[in-house]
Amino acid sequence: MSVSTKIELLPEVEAFLRTSPLPSFVGGGDFSAASGNVVATIDPGSGEQIAEIHDLDAGEIDRAVDIANAAFPAWSGLPQAERSAILLRLADAVETHKPIIAQIEALDAGKIQDQAAGDVQNFVDTLRYFVGLSDDVELRTKLDAPGHDAWTLKQPWGACAFIFPWNFPFLLIGWGISPALAAGNTVVIKPAEDTSLSAIYLARLAKQVGVPDGVINVVTGRGATAGAALTNNTEIKRMSFTGSPEVGQLVGEACGRNLVPVKLELGGKGAAVVFDDVDVKATAEALVGAITFHSGQVCCDATRWLVHEAVYDEFVKNCSELMQQVRIGHPLDPNSQMGPVVNPKQCQRVLGYQDKGKAEGAECLVGGGPATVDGFSGNYVNPALLAGTLDNVAAREEIFGPVAYLAKFSTEAEAIAMANDTDYGLANSVWTTDADRATRVAESMDAGNSWINAHNVFAQGVPYGGVNKSGLGGGVLSIETLMDYYRSTSIVRPL
Ligand code: NAD
Repeated sequence: MSVSTKIELLPEVEAFLRTSPLPSFVGGGDFSAASGNVVATIDPGSGEQIAEIHDLDAGEIDRAVDIANAAFPAWSGLPQAERSAILLRLADAVETHKPIIAQIEALDAGKIQDQAAGDVQNFVDTLRYFVGLSDDVELRTKLDAPGHDAWTLKQPWGACAFIFPWNFPFLLIGWGISPALAAGNTVVIKPAEDTSLSAIYLARLAKQVGVPDGVINVVTGRGATAGAALTNNTEIKRMSFTGSPEVGQLVGEACGRNLVPVKLELGGKGAAVVFDDVDVKATAEALVGAITFHSGQVCCDATRWLVHEAVYDEFVKNCSELMQQVRIGHPLDPNSQMGPVVNPKQCQRVLGYQDKGKAEGAECLVGGGPATVDGFSGNYVNPALLAGTLDNVAAREEIFGPVAYLAKFSTEAEAIAMANDTDYGLANSVWTTDADRATRVAESMDAGNSWINAHNVFAQGVPYGGVNKSGLGGGVLSIETLMDYYRSTSIVRPL
């Protein structure tokens, strides 16, 4: 299948798309919606339909959870070395298939192909990282309890559920399921309805490399039905949700009712605090790079740029020039720097916030608005730069597009107060050559992550998670995340 006469697909990607309508993958095989209902998968870069996925109902979701639980005893009972070897084979296979998965992801999520390849590599690195950690976990810990012989035993939970958003479909699967699988749990993955293709590809690949049936299950369908059914299922042993705070609250409520442990990784409204001692041009380049990366559809993005008054005008001039030079194009066009947003609804959301921000008094320094790309009628928007006070709707709510909001400060205390004046708490950055000030400000910002002279920094081993409206439950990517996927039993013998 060709997306457009202008885009050549890899033969393997064409073959994969020819299997549409793509069933879910459960218990080691295709798993179809008995209703025959499907959801269309659209290339955001061309607006053309590239596939359909099956739209499962609640009974089918429940069956998938049962299958994942049934596969648990054998998977958790494998010696660690054997389980690790299987997972490392999966990591190797994903790496070998990187160009194919990256192209599927680029086409499905509107992600620039090189960036999609980076996401696939990140999956591989994350899986290898957690397998390595799990090899060293001591499952029995002797306790110091006078008069008692006591120890704790760590064991995996069972079938763990994961609901993912559409912005980093494959990378987030890696962050989510790697610690769970390495610890010996089985998983049920519900990808976003807009971007389910790479998850289905992964499940098929897992089968090929010998991951036992029922260990990695992918259920597809709409959020309000398939997602809600997974959330309300009483047989899942843990839930991890990544997405909007609004849906996160629903998931949290259901897990609270069912007493299922839950992790919520939610949205953000991050600040970048820029002091007057920086290299203004380099800082502008870094922040424009961040806000246009994946068209600003990044939860931890720097969307509020708080700039010292002494360098404000120079910063604005640099950012404005850079934003207008961004090459917008189809994700598979190697010349493109920024692709489309994921769907027409998201396009309207991004444009709508620009209008609402201006209506509330924000000044528009760089135009925004819809963008056109020759030969493609995808969901393209121009980067936008607004400026004004922080009570503006565009400065308070998550837009999830290439829209930055500028405000001026004069003192360090004022900058910290402005950065913390938000309901969210995911990630901020501070930009200064003064190392003491960098540490002071980074430690004063009320969020899960503070970066210094950089934005969007991730490393396996560094916990990543949000506070306040940005999430709860401990985050991802660290040793603590792996430990979350073991439950603990205390065993005591009075002496
Ligand atoms: P969303 O909340 O609309 O959807 C996320 C997932 O939830 C999808 O799979 C969807 O099908 C499912 N869903 C929808 N309604 C549901 C329901 N009633 N019950 C159960 N599941 C349901 O989010 P989105 O628009 O896909 O993603 C964007 C959001 O994700 C942004 O807020 C972004 O900041 C956030 N995000 C956070 C992180 C993080 O690590 N903190 C990472 C990426 C994205």
